[in-house]
Amino acid sequence: MAELQRVQPDLSFIKGVMESGGETVKRCYQCATCSIVCPLSTEESPFPRKEMLWTQWGLAGKVSGDVDVWLCHQCGDCSKYCPRDARPGDVLGAIRANAIRYYAEPKFIADMLSKPGGVVGAVIAAMVLVLIVAGLWSQVSGEAFPFPEGDVVYHKFMSVIPIDIIFLSICAFVLFMSYRGVVNFWQDISKGAGLPKSFTGTYPVPPIGILATQYLWPSILEILSHARFKKCGQTAERAKGHLWVLWSFIILFAVTNFVFIAEDLFHAALGWIGPVTPMPQYHPVKILANIGGIMLVAGIWMIKTMRDRKAEEGVLHSSSQDWILIWLIFSVGATGIASEIFRLINVAQIAYPVYVFHLGCVAVLFLSLPYTKFGHLLYRTTAYVFDRWAKDVKAGKAGFGLEKPIGSDH
Ligand code: SF4
Ligand code: SF4
Repeated sequence: MAELQRVQPDLSFIKGVMESGGETVKRCYQCATCSIVCPLSTEESPFPRKEMLWTQWGLAGKVSGDVDVWLCHQCGDCSKYCPRDARPGDVLGAIRANAIRYYAEPKFIADMLSKPGGVVGAVIAAMVLVLIVAGLWSQVSGEAFPFPEGDVVYHKFMSVIPIDIIFLSICAFVLFMSYRGVVNFWQDISKGAGLPKSFTGTYPVPPIGILATQYLWPSILEILSHARFKKCGQTAERAKGHLWVLWSFIILFAVTNFVFIAEDLFHAALGWIGPVTPMPQYHPVKILANIGGIMLVAGIWMIKTMRDRKAEEGVLHSSSQDWILIWLIFSVGATGIASEIFRLINVAQIAYPVYVFHLGCVAVLFLSLPYTKFGHLLYRTTAYVFDRWAKDVKAGKAGFGLEKPIGSDH
């Protein structure tokens, strides 16, 4: 006779999911229609029916170790056909929001950035920090503060050195916290998938070269094309806005790195070349930066309008965390474009405050990576990599560092 197992529900987990947009989870009566209609669900591991049940039962550990939660793109196909209007697509979105908080360290940053007031407060705090550093910098540079004399040139307000100190510090902190979150996530999904541990007692990761070439690179290509996302039916059009935003991030990342190397490193730090910024509008890097900025604003606006429309149709309900990220990204793009316009028309009294606002928004967007829905970049990419790796391990094609591949009798 099968042994009975007592379920210990994690009530705070259920509450957290219900408060993050998954308030309909308890309507589910396990008909499995959602798992059948989901275009991304697989026969070997169908979802989202099981996730609905685990959430109802408060099985936080099981849900956090479930990689399928991250293979869902919240297309809403399942929600459209659910006979109980349990909105499984939105519930999975709420589970992901809670998972990001689960892996976030320290938690108070995740809590702060999950509320509109907290994000506004963080942007204001970042702006105050920028103003303090710029004020101190003016003592060194001898420029008037807060409005340097002459034409609007942002490096007169604050040179690359103090800007780098602020942003590189944030980047180092964010990278460290992201790494910790992803490592813990990998351990949980390995356990959830039933993979064996290595001799060190931890769940293994493929060797770095194999990880990069066989698992990470194909996953990145899949993400860059949004191949899975495009399989979604109800909100497939969202892929377009997402792709615009994703590619704009890539363009802006490349441009920022170019400026960092050329201006900050080769010019300011080493003195090998003359100043690179401000660049003329016809400079290829400037053209690319402008294209990236416009794509960012246009892409996020596409996502916003699609979400509004799908909410009216009852297919997709956006949580406050969805809107926080949308408005934060929009603010970064809009203030970036506005900073440039006011610099070009040389209106110092507006240009410098807008520039400070822009830096505040960028700082908070960076900071939000391991703490908000922005963390999808980390966890969904990890889930894609893991999905490929776990399939290979279970098929006996990969067993690096394992005691024995699953399914092997040797
Ligand atoms: S979420 Fe809806 S469709 Fe899915 S199992 Fe529950 S009741 Fe059925
Ligand atoms: S929202 Fe879309 S991808 Fe996610 S479970 Fe539902 S049908 Fe599948």
